[in-house]
Amino acid sequence: MITRNKVNCHVSSVTLKGQTGAGICISINGTPVEEKFTPYGKTPTSHQVSFMGCTETCERLERYSGMGEISIFIYHKATLDSLDCEVIKHGMALTAVLQLDHLAESVPVCLTNGDKKDPLMVRALSLAKQGALTPFETDQRFPVSNDYYKREVAAEVRRRCTLRWQSRKDARQARELWPNVDEYRSSLLYKSKRSEIGVLLGMYTGHNHYNRHGFLLGETVSPTCRLCSLDEEMALHILGQCPALSGPCYKFLGSELLDEEQLQVETPRH
Ligand SMILES: [Zn+2]
Repeated sequence: MITRNKVNCHVSSVTLKGQTGAGICISINGTPVEEKFTPYGKTPTSHQVSFMGCTETCERLERYSGMGEISIFIYHKATLDSLDCEVIKHGMALTAVLQLDHLAESVPVCLTNGDKKDPLMVRALSLAKQGALTPFETDQRFPVSNDYYKREVAAEVRRRCTLRWQSRKDARQARELWPNVDEYRSSLLYKSKRSEIGVLLGMYTGHNHYNRHGFLLGETVSPTCRLCSLDEEMALHILGQCPALSGPCYKFLGSELLDEEQLQVETPRH
């Protein structure tokens, strides 16, 4: 009499610190019998890696095909949807589908979305994380995602613009307070009210109505801060170094005093 076992395989993929990895956990009647993590480097998306994990799962499951019905649990629902779709739009999904069909020729295969709290799925995810954190050294090739190209092109454009900005001889104060090209900060400035843009640009460029600039132009008798009388009244002083403004500075910038380096920190994305 043939004993019918439950052969399950949990598949997961993840992106950690810009690196991707896949994790596979094969179990028979609930007991893990085979585990594997694979690093895929920074080129593919987590979605692509998920397809690769499925393809590899099917290859590995061939040897279990005589043992009983096979169920494959996939962590990412989007991957499952792509595999279930009548029209395959993704090259890597096609590879996975062909491999699934091949496996299904010898054994019934059930493909489903895994429960993220299932300990075996948790294990597959942990393996995927291990894969993502493992240095990627093989020369395995796979299609490069559009997202990867976009990221690389944006990073190169940013690098070149920053180089051009930093090599300028003018705009000293603006370069001090805004040392790198920062699209997000620029977009916030662009979306500000017109009156605020005037004040902010004055702050960044030094072309403002503070006493230091006024003194240089002969418009004020002293460059000293009118609030604390301790230092020259200029953008850097007003933004992070005036004791009389330590309250608002703490409220809006998180610290009572900020030096130039702290004011240069890139604006966090929300
Ligand atoms: Zn002051």
